[in-house]
Amino acid sequence: GNQQKVEANILLLGAENVGKSALTVRFLTRRFIGEYGDIESIYSHIDKTDGREISLNIWDSLYPQSCESTESISDRQLHWADGVILVYSICDRSSFQVVQQQVQLIRQNRKMSSSIPIIIVGNKRDLLHQRAVPSEEGQLFARSADCGFFETSAAETYHGVLLVFHEILDLIKESRALK
Ligand code: GDP
Ligand code: MG
Repeated sequence: GNQQKVEANILLLGAENVGKSALTVRFLTRRFIGEYGDIESIYSHIDKTDGREISLNIWDSLYPQSCESTESISDRQLHWADGVILVYSICDRSSFQVVQQQVQLIRQNRKMSSSIPIIIVGNKRDLLHQRAVPSEEGQLFARSADCGFFETSAAETYHGVLLVFHEILDLIKESRALK
């Protein structure tokens, strides 16, 4: 209908150690604390930045250990999510491969999620001397998979992280307007 939903569930996925928790905490508190532990958590947050209140739930996931599960994303997670932020580290090519696999899992394994908004984030861009994935490669892959793309440094800037969360919210709003 015409009534705007004011709630949005955002799921963060990606390999271990890429900065999912750092991005989440940066967005929620504006701070970078450096150590995050292995905690899986859903945070609730009211975002008021564009003049309207939106109630966000952010699921900061843990990448499953290989023995636990053959698939790295659960149906429960995808069913819950209105939008997905897929994170890799620009210093870690294997984490970029995880993102590529996860995009495929999301786009293929479940009809309902084939059009779910996805943003791919190459994090740790401050570690330029350790870069293993060129920006262009991330950008090209994201475009080919119909995903948004950003590079961020959770360690260095709040603003870039804010842009990611606002973009996924915009995409979620757009996808709802189309329904
Ligand atoms: P997660 O396993 O994906 O949740 O990753 P974490 O958020 O726990 O971060 C893993 C490690 O990378 C921690 O030591 C963070 O301090 C560090 N880290 C996260 N984001 C950045 C970043 O943008 N730049 C740098 N240099 N380190 C980061
Ligand atoms: Mg974490």
